[in-house]
Amino acid sequence: MTPIIIRAGNVWDGLAETPLGPREILIENGIITALEKSVQVPVGAQIIDLPDRMVMPGLIDCHVHITLRPEMIGSFWSFSGGYKALLGAEAVRIHLMNGFTTVRDCGDMDLHGYTVRDVKMAAEHGIIPGSRLINSGHMLSARSGHMDTTAILSPDCRAWQNNLADGPEEIQSLVREEIKWGAEWIKFAASGGFASPSDNPVDVGYTKEEMECLVATATQYHRPVSAHLHGDDAVRMAVLAGVRSVEHGAMATKETLQLIEENGVFLIPTQYAGVRSARFADSEEYWESIGNNPYEKMKMRMYRDVLLENARNLAKSNIRIAFGTDLGIMSYAINGAVEFGEMVTNGIAPVRALRAATSVAAEMLMRPDLGVLAPGKAADIIAVPGNPFEDIAVMEKVSFVMKAGTVYKSA
Ligand SMILES: [Zn+2]
Repeated sequence: MTPIIIRAGNVWDGLAETPLGPREILIENGIITALEKSVQVPVGAQIIDLPDRMVMPGLIDCHVHITLRPEMIGSFWSFSGGYKALLGAEAVRIHLMNGFTTVRDCGDMDLHGYTVRDVKMAAEHGIIPGSRLINSGHMLSARSGHMDTTAILSPDCRAWQNNLADGPEEIQSLVREEIKWGAEWIKFAASGGFASPSDNPVDVGYTKEEMECLVATATQYHRPVSAHLHGDDAVRMAVLAGVRSVEHGAMATKETLQLIEENGVFLIPTQYAGVRSARFADSEEYWESIGNNPYEKMKMRMYRDVLLENARNLAKSNIRIAFGTDLGIMSYAINGAVEFGEMVTNGIAPVRALRAATSVAAEMLMRPDLGVLAPGKAADIIAVPGNPFEDIAVMEKVSFVMKAGTVYKSA
């Protein structure tokens, strides 16, 4: 590959409290090899001038569902795996063009096949343009739990799905099956949810024994565990069972947030899809605008105060927050970068929100090659037209995207 030099008007490296000022970045064979005020220009190097841009690490969205769309929730069985793969291909392209060079899928919604794995391979083989994809397989759930979607079908439908397990023996077997089919994380539904018809966010999905067995089996294969969580009891149980990431955590009390912090667990608050709905819970217009899910509307109204208090306590905590949107549950017409603004609205400092999508996300994913601009790191680099420390909304206007040294978007 031809060496590339990016001349940036301003650089933020994914770590520092403030931007570093003008810098030059040398990229060779997809890797950053120098970041200085002025770098030596190799013979034949391509120069990319970005004088009026803030150059940053490629963003990481730690919670997406590439094979889902909100309008599909009621029709899981009417789309083939092939169609879901096309949705996945569309999703990873959209993520990449919005500056998200890495995404972690948090639950393959092809409940008969392993489509996220296929989309990941297609992107890695260069068959489709797309973000780096980290695959959590299917979201394991108890029967009748949050991800038993047969509940939304008619009672006489006998459809099967491959992500349901009860009791340690079945859980152990299913975790191993997911790993066999390419799961890099194990994701499970540890509590009920808002958008689902048959459960409640304060319901606990599994017993202590079941959660411990799930984490132990994943750990045997060196797979970290991520848990879908809302209610306080379930959050405590999952943290004590040893999960690495808490997804949502929207109803954790101040004491439980403290427990998350003490255990070094990462929290992905997905606030645009969560607490934002609590803020607008009384507005019929708001619910119309996001598809008017009657279960979600009812439960958000019921638990609004708990969610708002949780968001206030989270902003005051020192929990390691990682960035996640839940796109797929939300429409892909929405640019996932809206989550930055929502985090800041809820009192999270801009630098903490930006680290959540760069250095902290990479740490959570155990990918030391990502999330930071420095020599030796992957050349996943984006640029925005302004300073997000002053105006976080510029994160929605990514104008330049490079992944592993290849330019995918350039103004
Ligand atoms: Zn999700």
